[in-house]
Amino acid sequence: MIPIATALEQIRNTVQPWPVVSQDLISSVGMVLARDVLADIDSPPHHKSVMDGYAVRSSDIQAGCRELVVTETIVAGSSPQQSVKAGCAARIMTGAPLPEGADAVVMVEKTSEVAGAKPPQVRIDLSQIAPGHHTMSRAENYRSGDVVLSRGHQIRAADIGLLAEVGCDPVEVYRQPTIAVLPTGDELVKVDQQPGPAQIRNSNGPMLVALNQAQGLAVEALDIGRDDPAQLKRLVEQGLQKDVLLLSGGVSAGMLDLVPKVLAECGVEQVFHKVAVKPGKPIWFGQWSAGTHTCYVFGLPGNPLSSLVGYHLFVRYAIQCMFEQADQQRWSGAQLVNDHQTRGNRPTFWPGKIQVDSGMTRHVATLPWNGSSDLRALGQADCLVHFPLEKNEWQAGEPVEIWPLER
Ligand code: AMP
Ligand code: MG
Repeated sequence: MIPIATALEQIRNTVQPWPVVSQDLISSVGMVLARDVLADIDSPPHHKSVMDGYAVRSSDIQAGCRELVVTETIVAGSSPQQSVKAGCAARIMTGAPLPEGADAVVMVEKTSEVAGAKPPQVRIDLSQIAPGHHTMSRAENYRSGDVVLSRGHQIRAADIGLLAEVGCDPVEVYRQPTIAVLPTGDELVKVDQQPGPAQIRNSNGPMLVALNQAQGLAVEALDIGRDDPAQLKRLVEQGLQKDVLLLSGGVSAGMLDLVPKVLAECGVEQVFHKVAVKPGKPIWFGQWSAGTHTCYVFGLPGNPLSSLVGYHLFVRYAIQCMFEQADQQRWSGAQLVNDHQTRGNRPTFWPGKIQVDSGMTRHVATLPWNGSSDLRALGQADCLVHFPLEKNEWQAGEPVEIWPLER
């Protein structure tokens, strides 16, 4: 049994950086940037107005000049034809380039046309205006050559706008690994079946598929593996064709815990077996290579919460290693609402419910939980609370780390 930190280190030493592919911008959501994205333009590309109104010289307004000669109209997409001279203004629309001479914009609501004036004039209903008012300077958002998104960033729908703005299409991203999920156990029946005596439904299979899909990864759900070496071996061989194979069940010390043996027979090389974590101790990790193809294999313990903790702590970490991401700080802090006792000699993860008080301090209550098979308690939970090994008695008000379960 190794500590969590050692398991993570061994994963990082094993998992190789993933190939980089060019992906159409529009279909890159959920993928991870393999290069820094640099701006090829200034944003905004010119000094501009951020209001519909009149481009003026602020010194004119400051000097008490209220009626200005309107020399031209500048719409978004057009360029000013002349500079704004003392006593003059240009009608201007949102986003249009600010003409030379002008240093501020008066919003149209603060103006009125001077009836019958020739040339046309505008009356300004302001006694003063600061230079720069309702304008933006060229490159105020970013400059050509600036890094606008960094390597390792997972592209969200909201990022597509920025990538489009800097003309980044296609996008250089890490290829998405393909995943296979292989639940094992003679007691398992499919979700649409009524369990007979001594049977339970396969809940891990669909959960592991969903956990991967929530990361934007393509997953194949394999058939249920039985506690029969030949049948299990056939399914493992199928799963090894993917980049990552996630088994559940069959990795602990029971008579029919065949997974480590079958994996060895298939040529999968063990990296570690058993980590000091509760739930989830029997977790198994290894790799299999054939030619240029490598498959990373996790044997997750059968109890659903054990599989879940193993997925969040270790499988997600392996995927981050493929994308050369720094260890993502998913942990955040909260104050315990209640006293809590842990038992045993392993760091524990416990389902918890977050509450935020009016001062925006986050509190977390540990939920009544029957242990690693109790999915109902998880249904009430929005995080896992981490109780490290340092002690067994935790008091209300103490700070703890939590792992949010938002997806
Ligand atoms: P195992 O790791 O195979 O010894 O399984 C540990 C416990 O998890 C047993 O009670 C199994 O019935 C249960 N279990 C194993 N696989 C699944 C699964 N796919 N869905 C729900 N429970 C499972
Ligand atoms: Mg089993």
